[in-house]
Parts: sequence; structure tokens; C-alpha cells
Amino acid sequence: MTLPLLLLDVDGPLNPYAAKRHRRPHGYGTHRVKPDCWVARFPQRPAERVRPLRIWINPDHGPELLALRYELVWATTWMDEANTFIGPLLGLPVLPYIHWPELHQQDPDGLHWKTRNLVAWAAGRPFVWVDDELGPQDAEWIAAHHPAPALTLHVDPEIGLGESDFTALREWAEAVA
Ligand SMILES: [Mg+2]
Repeated sequence: MTLPLLLLDVDGPLNPYAAKRHRRPHGYGTHRVKPDCWVARFPQRPAERVRPLRIWINPDHGPELLALRYELVWATTWMDEANTFIGPLLGLPVLPYIHWPELHQQDPDGLHWKTRNLVAWAAGRPFVWVDDELGPQDAEWIAAHHPAPALTLHVDPEIGLGESDFTALREWAEAVA
């Protein structure tokens, strides 16, 4: 039996970037990293003068994700750099990732810029999409255009993935099995 896909965003669900700046959320570690996707945000600055990005990662999330009955997939602007910088902090193996041909582009129907590419990538397989930016319009569009069960799971970027999210993921996987 093929498992449903778990399409995972990094900033928001795994790195609660919107939490209060000087109060690292409980259970999280602080890391400073310099992926190309971060350096590219400062095109006017030489790479060596770009300061590293501070991220918060909760190492418990790795084993919790691996215990789920899903095939894990990165669905993040970090793309393959999630395997270099995020996966090892969580103890995750190298995962497949969605390659976005374009980032942050405007959508004619007001969808999130990831939505259409993500549905095309899933190619008819059941999936859950975990992201801090998706909205009800994305859920509606996915329901109308994806031929298999799909769930959009919105995560608050001040909080990150929590126990209720893991419960929802477990329950959904059971329901579609
Ligand atoms: Mg995000």
C-alpha cells in the first residue's frame, strides 16, 4: 500500500519564526544557518556579508514525523537545502522535495503560490499539506482539482507544529487507509 504524502513547509510549521523574538519557544533549539535561499534574499550584498538566518527547530519533531504513516516530502522555499540544513537537526533522512519553478508568484485566482505546483506534484496521490500561509481558497481549489483525498493543515507560525496537529495527521492517515 502506498502511504499518503505529507507535504511539509519549514518556516512556520517547523521553524516558528513569528514567535516573540527574544523568547525561544519551549522545546526548540536555536541554530544559525546560511542557505543559498537566504543569501539570495540580499542580492545587493556580497554573500559573505549576509548574516546567518536564526531558526528555531524542535528536535522532537523528527521522530514524531517519522512515526507517522506518511511519506514525508519537503514543500518549502528551502527546496533541497531543507535536506542540508533542516533534516539533520531533526534526525530526518534525505527526503524528496518539490522543486518550484518560481517562488512567491501572484496567482490569478488568489491561490497561494505553491498550490497549483503542489497539486501537480502530488499527481493524484492522497496528501496533507502543512503550511502557515495556506487559506480556505486553497483548500477549496484542491478539493475541486485533486482527484484523491487531501487535507490542508494550517499551522500558526508563532507556535509551530503542536500535539493537536500530530493528532490530526494520525487521524487523517487512519481515515484514508
Ligand atoms: Mg511557511
